[in-house]
Amino acid sequence: ASALLELQDMEVAFTIGKKTYPALQQISFQVKEGETVGIVGESGCGKSLTSLSVMGLLPETAAMTKGGIVLDGKFMEPASPERWGAVRGKQVSMIFQNPMSALNPLMPVGKQIAEMAMTHLSVSKPEAKRLATEMMVKVGLSRVERLYDDYPHQLSGGMMQRIMIAMALICSPKLLIADEPTTALDVTIQAQILDLLREMNRSTGTAILLISHDLGVIREVCDRVIVMYAGYIVEDAPVGDILDHPKHPYTAGLLQSLPGADKRGRPLYTIPGRVPALADRRSGCPFAGRCPSATDLCESVAPDLLQAAAHHRVRCHLYANGGRAV
Ligand code: SF4
Ligand code: MG
Repeated sequence: ASALLELQDMEVAFTIGKKTYPALQQISFQVKEGETVGIVGESGCGKSLTSLSVMGLLPETAAMTKGGIVLDGKFMEPASPERWGAVRGKQVSMIFQNPMSALNPLMPVGKQIAEMAMTHLSVSKPEAKRLATEMMVKVGLSRVERLYDDYPHQLSGGMMQRIMIAMALICSPKLLIADEPTTALDVTIQAQILDLLREMNRSTGTAILLISHDLGVIREVCDRVIVMYAGYIVEDAPVGDILDHPKHPYTAGLLQSLPGADKRGRPLYTIPGRVPALADRRSGCPFAGRCPSATDLCESVAPDLLQAAAHHRVRCHLYANGGRAV
């Protein structure tokens, strides 16, 4: 499959007063048609900023300062709201952690889905209603005739997230971006929503970019995972490889902090320390302050993202000589 989305050496920086702080650096990756890719990392690592870049929705104080984004063969001009407006909803859709804040509280939920169809597919009102109802069934909602006229506050969190997914998919976008879509939901509903995302990917071929701090969530949906730390991609590999043989010490830490059957009854591991704040980032490996394998070299020289195996990239000095093991 060809690349649907390509980020090319992208840098995004915040300007605060007279100072500029790079928040994302050297971001290069592809999402192929129909692929499911996860982005994982603690909060403050740049996951959400990366997804907002792809939607052309960077906050006002941030700007793309290097590189660029190619979507479906077209170079996306960062300064062209028209160009982004033309793809948003239609080619790329996004769902968020909190559907309540994304839905209009004053409009029946079914109508909100139908309006999406009318705006982007130029279909008639009755046709839009028919498509919306059909989509509500596809995302696993029941008694949709009645639900169509309900307002957001009448729905549970899980139902609202299903409404958001229906809205995001009604125009058959090529890419769905989901930023922490299940973080606000309880465990059972979370599993159902992740199943639904996987199922929608299989049945519609929509590629998914799933953002989560939880590798366990990504594992349920994605084929490939990109690990981010302090604004950099530090590892990128098929999910199975990451779970079985993580290369980067940060990934190994994330994996260790996953709850598992073998760890029952023991307190969960957490990586000591925290992600450096934007203003505190300096030269050397950004993970050096927290890394159990750090050496003097790591303190002074930033590692490059290297190809450690055919489908495995890693940014760490331990793999500088052709990917030797830790
Ligand atoms: Fe740790 Fe050094 Fe690798 Fe950074 S480059 S992750 S500090 S071993
Ligand atoms: Mg976030």
